[in-house]
Amino acid sequence: MVFDRKTATAKLSPPSSGEEERPQEIEYRRDPLTGRLSRINIERARRPKQTIGDVSALREMAERTRESCPFCPERIETSTPTFTQLPYRRLRRGECWVFPNLFPFSKHHAVTVFTQHHFKLLKEITAEELNQGINVSLEFLRDIHQLDKAARYPILAWNYLPPAGASIIHPHFQIMVDERPTGIVGQEIEASGKFLSDGVCFWEELLEAERELGERMVKFSEPVSWVAGFSPLGNREVLAIFRGKSSLSDLTKRDVEEFVKGLAGVLRYYSDSGVMSVNMVFYSGPLYEDISRYFYLHARIVARPTPTTLYVSDDGFLEKLCAEPVIDMTPEDLAESLRRYLA
Ligand SMILES: [Zn+2]
Repeated sequence: MVFDRKTATAKLSPPSSGEEERPQEIEYRRDPLTGRLSRINIERARRPKQTIGDVSALREMAERTRESCPFCPERIETSTPTFTQLPYRRLRRGECWVFPNLFPFSKHHAVTVFTQHHFKLLKEITAEELNQGINVSLEFLRDIHQLDKAARYPILAWNYLPPAGASIIHPHFQIMVDERPTGIVGQEIEASGKFLSDGVCFWEELLEAERELGERMVKFSEPVSWVAGFSPLGNREVLAIFRGKSSLSDLTKRDVEEFVKGLAGVLRYYSDSGVMSVNMVFYSGPLYEDISRYFYLHARIVARPTPTTLYVSDDGFLEKLCAEPVIDMTPEDLAESLRRYLA
């Protein structure tokens, strides 16, 4: 396992130093699986600052949007689209609803509303809500697979709050099923396959290496281990890796239960450090096909900017146009802060 990191020094004199040179160190990292790049300004990473969000402004926005929210219980049965090819118009389990996305990006693109509450801070979202939301989404995936066997690549994802791309603040997951994987899942599966041709399961090796090094391992356990990503795609990136499972269709009720316990811990940590907005995606192999000899199902969770009125996006030219994220906290510091939340 190669954790490739190189540093370079930028020489400059900041305005406060009386023209004295104060060099800053930049670390370049390469993802051990795909070679994806990222960089960290170590100086800046030592003082990560997430603007503490104005909760009252958010609550005000929640009040304002509640009246017309299509996902709130009073309107969900009249203001959301319905399926036309499944045995149900919408799938309901307890407080959770699954229905089509009004403007789909996929042949099968659905929304899972997993709580009746219009607005919650991350730390207020319960493991039970997440548990039910994921389970009903998995049930929907099974139904889609019955209907359309060619749609094999599932995505289960979460954009939380507008800085993460959510247009509706009412908490909801998104589910997509396509005939081909997304670009990154395709790259990861292909790269994992190449490791296998050298007789290595990359994911097993990764878990072993991270466990041995200890610096980024947050929690090693079955069925799911939690690791801070070595070369992150986004800030405060956490990976949840399901050992020996390759697809969302492999998850048992117990797997989901263990996952949401960890996820609730990550959300509590985010909340305590000022993060309010997140993205999460499950990177899954094909449904009902076991490729776990070389690819493990994993979820990636990243923090997004705090929704203040004029917040600064974390998606600048390097992220958006050069696919090389600038990360504001070292994965090693992240792992250290996160451990007690998952203990
Ligand atoms: Zn609502």
